[in-house]
Amino acid sequence: MTQERIFFITVIDTLESIYNGMRRAGEAIVAPLRSGNGPNKFRLSAVDTATTTHDGDDGWAKRPPATVACPRCENDILQHNAYDDIDCPRCVASFDADEFSELELRGLTCPVCRDDMVHGQRHPEAFDIVEWATCNSCRYHWEFKHSYD
Ligand SMILES: [Zn+2]
Ligand SMILES: [Zn+2]
Repeated sequence: MTQERIFFITVIDTLESIYNGMRRAGEAIVAPLRSGNGPNKFRLSAVDTATTTHDGDDGWAKRPPATVACPRCENDILQHNAYDDIDCPRCVASFDADEFSELELRGLTCPVCRDDMVHGQRHPEAFDIVEWATCNSCRYHWEFKHSYD
């Protein structure tokens, strides 16, 4: 009983220190950016650290939330995840996730800051789907990277 309790407390302590460590790291990233004209080496390390946190994702499973046009009623349909069913919120139209390419893509939403993303294709002759998207607000970038499939 006592042993179990000690173990439990140790786990909680460990989790707390991990959390605090992460929070400190986060503050360290934000602080030099806020101060504006700090030394360049701080700036560099801040950018490096930010890059490892959320510079982007790749693969269809990580595709940003997409808005497509409903072919029946022209309403916007938000497909949050690439493998979700595509159901029109206004009419009865419903599509499977693999019918995505047949629908008109109206835009992608940045999963980090929720801004509209710029998107495009790299091989329109080979693939009929969006292959990349970039957020101009927070620099989040997504790539389909078909060569890994
Ligand atoms: Zn509809
Ligand atoms: Zn963004």
